[in-house]
Amino acid sequence: MVMTMEKANIDWANLGFGYYKTDKRFVSMYKDGQWDEGKLTDDENIVMNECACVLQYAQTCFEGMKAYETVDGRVVIFRPDMNAQRMHDTAKRLEMAPYPEDKFVEAVEQVVKANLKYVPPYGTGASLYIRPYLFGYSPVMGVKPANEFMFRIFVSPVGPYFKGGSKPITLKVSDFDRAAPNGTGHVKAGLNYAMSLHAIVTAHNEGYAENLYLDPQTRTKVEETGGANFLFITKDGKVVTPKSPSILPSITRRSLVYVAQHYLGLEVEEREVLLSELDDFAECGLCGTAAVISPVGKIVDHGREICFPSGMDVPGEITKKLYDTLTGIQYGKIEAPQGWIKTIA
Ligand SMILES: *Cc1c(COP(=O)(O)O)cnc(C)c1O
Repeated sequence: MVMTMEKANIDWANLGFGYYKTDKRFVSMYKDGQWDEGKLTDDENIVMNECACVLQYAQTCFEGMKAYETVDGRVVIFRPDMNAQRMHDTAKRLEMAPYPEDKFVEAVEQVVKANLKYVPPYGTGASLYIRPYLFGYSPVMGVKPANEFMFRIFVSPVGPYFKGGSKPITLKVSDFDRAAPNGTGHVKAGLNYAMSLHAIVTAHNEGYAENLYLDPQTRTKVEETGGANFLFITKDGKVVTPKSPSILPSITRRSLVYVAQHYLGLEVEEREVLLSELDDFAECGLCGTAAVISPVGKIVDHGREICFPSGMDVPGEITKKLYDTLTGIQYGKIEAPQGWIKTIA
């Protein structure tokens, strides 16, 4: 039980969403066609060749997940098998050696167990962010994949992703594109983030919290933001989420869809969502591991303001119910669907 465990001396209530060095991280190497056993290490630094594929051609991908302390003092992780599978799919798309899915889950467990004192206490709103990543390690000069890879996992205690908690945010319809049709939008590649940095800095400078990206082909359909999927609520209480082959399949979004259907009895539509129909929705939220759901109050399309009836002060009613139910499941207050919660300690 963690209740008796000594916690790190951290001001949990004032943690931001940033890197915090913890004690142990996991590392495994792929060489000569196979993965080694992998081990925990104290060393947070990586030394590699100047011509490593990741440095020259951005052959890298990552995952993001969290460990929580539950109301009854257990430490749990949420659906790690889903992250394992998604990283497998990403590795394939980027011509990297996938890390075996069962070993992925075991390694996540090992790292969390080795850093239990950094799992924020229940009730602080903070959690332990888990960052698995995989990259091309060997040198390549001509454009080709590496043949040696490194898989690592570190953890970092984090506060809520958006400062100011669940205050609704304002989005900008971006003039930049996130993911090309037939590109890499559906996998968690570092390169998707590299090319979004200019767009997000631009949006922040203009006072927006995030970008809404459209489909690049027609620029009429809503895709997602830089790091979160959309959920909309219709005026008659239906959940609508955009469907597109270039959206990253968010585990939070897929879990919220299940929660909407099976816990809240709501109807869910996964379909193309047009920019021109946003005015018809009652509520809007962004979903991802970092924030679970961040309510959106307003979307600005080149001066045209789309204001959701839920307003700029509080989350929409159904958005809040979805948030409360999923976080209730994660914190062990509401019974979870089979296989969603893995107890670590
Ligand atoms: C990681 C990510 C998400 C959120 O996925 P979760 O599995 O819910 O954390 C959404 N969009 C993009 C582009 C992402 O990279």
